[in-house]
Amino acid sequence: MTPRITVVEHPLVRHKLSYLRDKETPTVHFRKLANEITLLLTYEATKEFPTEGYEIETPLERMTAQRISGKKVAVCPVLRAGVGMLDGVLSLVSSARVGFIGLYRDEDTLEAVQYYVKLPVDLHERDAIVLDPMLATGHSSVAAINAVKEAGAQAVTLVCIVAAPPGVEEVHEHHPDVHIVCAAVDRGLNEHGYIVPGLGDAGDRLYGTK
Ligand code: URA
Repeated sequence: MTPRITVVEHPLVRHKLSYLRDKETPTVHFRKLANEITLLLTYEATKEFPTEGYEIETPLERMTAQRISGKKVAVCPVLRAGVGMLDGVLSLVSSARVGFIGLYRDEDTLEAVQYYVKLPVDLHERDAIVLDPMLATGHSSVAAINAVKEAGAQAVTLVCIVAAPPGVEEVHEHHPDVHIVCAAVDRGLNEHGYIVPGLGDAGDRLYGTK
């Protein structure tokens, strides 16, 4: 299986991402932009959903219209920064169920530590879209993907805003079946595990905690 990554280079995504990166962008705009970018990434992440024909009548005549066939989706944000992407997905896939995965980063080892998981009971019937805005070391995304797969999720897509090469490698090594959809792959990580040039701490910038 060839691991897949899609970097969405639509001008709107690039434009909005530049504002997200700018340290002068205030929380109120950061939140809105994170959801808008996620909406655009979701458009790409759902591109291969199968459709089926069905009969409708327009005001003028009968026709065979198309609808998404038999796809059930669970959106699973990684707490807390992934929640800043949730509305972006739900605004396009409004019938999706939502699961939460609580992870924090041990600042010494940079490993992801799980403290909370609440997933839809019928996850085994659903495709999962995992939301983790910063794919840095990949530890939190791998832990989140492990959690949804253990709960039986079918196909898994990881939607992140900014990725770094070590994170992409880590996810693809552990989960070569997982399609990564992101807005950019940056140069690398600094000594604290932050993506550079990146956009800083996504959680702090979303919630104004620093
Ligand atoms: N988490 C963040 O919020 N930002 C990074 O750059 C890396 C991990």
